[in-house]
Amino acid sequence: MRCRFFSSKLLFLMAGACESSFFRQNVGAVCRSNSAFGLIAISYIKADMTIIRNAIDSIQIGVEDYVSEDPRRYLSAVRNVTAGILLVYKEKLRRLSPPNDPEIFIKKHVIPKVSDDGAVVIVGKGKSTVDIAQIKERFDQLGVSVNWKQFESIKQLRNEIEHYYTRLTKDNVREILSSSFVLIRDFLVEELNEDPVDTLGEECWKVLLEVADVYQREEENSRKSLEDVDWKYQVVEELVEHFRCPNCQSALLRVEVDNDYSPGLELTCSSCGHIFPVSEILEDSVDELLGGEAFVAAKEGCEPPYEACPQCWSNTFIIAEGLCLKCESGLLYEACALCGEGLTVDEQDLGGLCSYHHYQMEKIRDE
Ligand SMILES: [Zn+2]
Ligand SMILES: [Zn+2]
Ligand SMILES: [Zn+2]
Repeated sequence: MRCRFFSSKLLFLMAGACESSFFRQNVGAVCRSNSAFGLIAISYIKADMTIIRNAIDSIQIGVEDYVSEDPRRYLSAVRNVTAGILLVYKEKLRRLSPPNDPEIFIKKHVIPKVSDDGAVVIVGKGKSTVDIAQIKERFDQLGVSVNWKQFESIKQLRNEIEHYYTRLTKDNVREILSSSFVLIRDFLVEELNEDPVDTLGEECWKVLLEVADVYQREEENSRKSLEDVDWKYQVVEELVEHFRCPNCQSALLRVEVDNDYSPGLELTCSSCGHIFPVSEILEDSVDELLGGEAFVAAKEGCEPPYEACPQCWSNTFIIAEGLCLKCESGLLYEACALCGEGLTVDEQDLGGLCSYHHYQMEKIRDE
């Protein structure tokens, strides 16, 4: 697929057709005016096109890995397509760079330098290129918008997949491909003004469309199945979208038997068939949902949204619900026996007193 795409594009160039908007913008003029210097023109085009070319290659090879139906190539599919996203972002930085240093925004290090005419200019230094954090920063400064939330979820899933790649299922790959596809398509259209079909090639585009379509349908089925459950607690309803199979990390989960929430409620993974009680994934999904809030609370010295349960020690005691999702037990002592002040999870081992009165009692006892 890749070779066919490349050769057809090359023919395009040779023939001076230059139909894609990308080719028109970047090389069209060179094609036409320098036809007598075809070779020079093509080498110029190659240098200028390296990043977008690598991005397209990476995505196309990823798609080839996926359609090969060889599970040994699934990890490679994920790696290639996600690498393609970063390259597409770098292409944007290249296009925004000033003409005096056309790759300056892609460079990791940028330094001031005195030019020949004595003026101070900013230039890129070394071969290292920007990392994700720098791309984010530069996009912010340059007013380029990206759905970073979606990007982060792809990145996280990709990292998890690296650890269990031997269990990687076709659905896992589909999930990554499907969300990457949406991200790439939107960015090509909105930020690079490219026609995605033209840029990625018809075959690659068709596969990505189908993958996204199949995945979205599976996701819809799984969502419907989980919607029928009475989750009993507000917070669990919010947790559901963070549920993932502990075996393969797929989000395609369903319930076989209609039931209300209980920690033992069984979920079935549609990707790998693993069946497990919801209690097994509560800690991870609570961390996903409330981890950020807990981090801020800890930094500011406020009460965290959840804590370790004094009964079962899982990190699933939800303060707002006043109970642990895993063992469903509430606080043993709700208020201080002396002052009536509400007690926190931390104060449960103080025999029913608040920290202040517990301290006072200890002092009296010691005297
Ligand atoms: Zn699974
Ligand atoms: Zn508990
Ligand atoms: Zn008290």
